[in-house]
Amino acid sequence: MTHFDRSSEVRSEYASGNADRNVYLTFDDGPDPFCTPDILDVLADHRVPATFFVIGAYAVDHPKLIRRMIAEGHGVGNHTMNHREFSRCDPVEVQDEILTASAAIKTACPLASLRHVRAPYGIWTDEALAASASAGLAAMNWSVDPKDWSRPGAESIVEAVLTAVRPGAIVLLHDGCPPDERERGIHACRDQTLKAVSQLIPALHNRGFSIRSLPQVH
Ligand SMILES: [Zn+2]
Repeated sequence: MTHFDRSSEVRSEYASGNADRNVYLTFDDGPDPFCTPDILDVLADHRVPATFFVIGAYAVDHPKLIRRMIAEGHGVGNHTMNHREFSRCDPVEVQDEILTASAAIKTACPLASLRHVRAPYGIWTDEALAASASAGLAAMNWSVDPKDWSRPGAESIVEAVLTAVRPGAIVLLHDGCPPDERERGIHACRDQTLKAVSQLIPALHNRGFSIRSLPQVH
């Protein structure tokens, strides 16, 4: 079995080594018909690109939102088909979760150029890393987690990001909620995330950061 050094296989930031002050906003667990359009509106108002790690099952349900993301210049990444934790899947299921999600995103938008995958909860296994690599997807985590899903208040989300951010940072945010939470009756409202993003973008710009979508891994 191939040995993977997980710390080097999974990227959590994108420091370029030069003077760039790029930061990367990423949104997980969408597309959501109530939240994602508002997030897209705010990004469009500020002319800022982001990367959306979408759940394949939701891409099947809301293909127009995938097409809107691409049309508006955002990156779309694979966040698996059903958001199952890789460590609880057998190797065939791991592969299936990744490949069916890629197929669902491509079906929703054939123009999507998929380059990145993010594991549910950021929990990777050797099988998941191998399946991602063979699917041509770079494994991505994050370096800044303001825990927006826990609804700490928009101000707290903004402050947590501004305290931790540095050039190359990848910021984890959410524009939806996973299927298992929905099944348990949790319909997470992302209004705090929306408000935080509308404040974060100008605050990051004021600090000299450029907001980009995730680049291709070379
Ligand atoms: Zn997720």
